[in-house]
Amino acid sequence: MKRLLAAAWLAACPVSSTGAQTAPPYPAITIPLKLDQVPGKPIWYSTGSPGIPGKDNEGNTSNAGFVVTSDGVVVFDALGTPSHGWALLQEIRRRTDQKIRYVVASHYHADHIYGLQAFRDHTDALIVAQERSGEYKDNDGIADEKASQRLDQRRNALYPWIDGNTRVVPPDITFRERMTVALGDRRLTLFFAGPAHSSSDMMMMVEPDGVLFAGDIVQNGRIPFMNSDDVSTTQWLEALGEVEKLDPKVVIPGHGRALTEASQAIAFTRDYIRYLRGTMAAAVQDWTDFDVAYGQADWSKYRDFPAFASNNRGNAYRIFLELEQSQFKAVKP
Ligand SMILES: [Zn+2]
Repeated sequence: MKRLLAAAWLAACPVSSTGAQTAPPYPAITIPLKLDQVPGKPIWYSTGSPGIPGKDNEGNTSNAGFVVTSDGVVVFDALGTPSHGWALLQEIRRRTDQKIRYVVASHYHADHIYGLQAFRDHTDALIVAQERSGEYKDNDGIADEKASQRLDQRRNALYPWIDGNTRVVPPDITFRERMTVALGDRRLTLFFAGPAHSSSDMMMMVEPDGVLFAGDIVQNGRIPFMNSDDVSTTQWLEALGEVEKLDPKVVIPGHGRALTEASQAIAFTRDYIRYLRGTMAAAVQDWTDFDVAYGQADWSKYRDFPAFASNNRGNAYRIFLELEQSQFKAVKP
């Protein structure tokens, strides 16, 4: 009987590329990652659930992907729990034995970075981020969100996948404006695109494939989170313009499904930002109180999208403040 149980337990454990049985080092997820391949390219990605992180989606709400070059693997984002980072690592191992060289973090927000822990603890990969990711810590007035407060919140919301062992892993390498990695038959260019959605937004273009990993600059079919000191919708609209100029063949967004045309990929995020700005600009100009303006606005176009209830009001308020500030600057002598 004991032997039977042991056999069942072993059968439930993943098999490593060397064929040895290894127990997962993090609490198991019950909703498996589903990977898609960019047609004809050595590039894979997973698409997270559109809602906000919670027990129903086990914290898998963002996208991540990887590029297999002839000289190693580059991973873009690491998902929202160490368990998901581990699952992504197993998906990579299922497809290649190549060394994982870099894990690029699109920006330091909880839904994209807790999976870094799995790569830090189980690979030699170097973690790369834009230098302002260093602001992701505590007691920093300009931080996107307070790192330890967010971790506490997730330990409640996402237990057991986020627990006392979960930690924020800092990058090994940072860059300011641009970093190019030539690896085997691929060239990867990392661009700073923020501060737009966060202080440290960046995007990664993969050539010669023309595939752009856009991070949270591009989000599809979901109300993005904008209620942070670091959000600049002015810069965000510029970054979306950059995406259009790069003219990628495929855009893999930070949230939502991958799209093939740049103009189509950016449309949802751009339309939403423009709509919020238009609505709030009128209120700022007329000296209308925010609550009144918010109550009077027509939200029917966005009300049914995931994360509307949790994000829209805060987003509108943040944009109200941003526009109020720029108006104040404009009239200052
Ligand atoms: Zn995100």
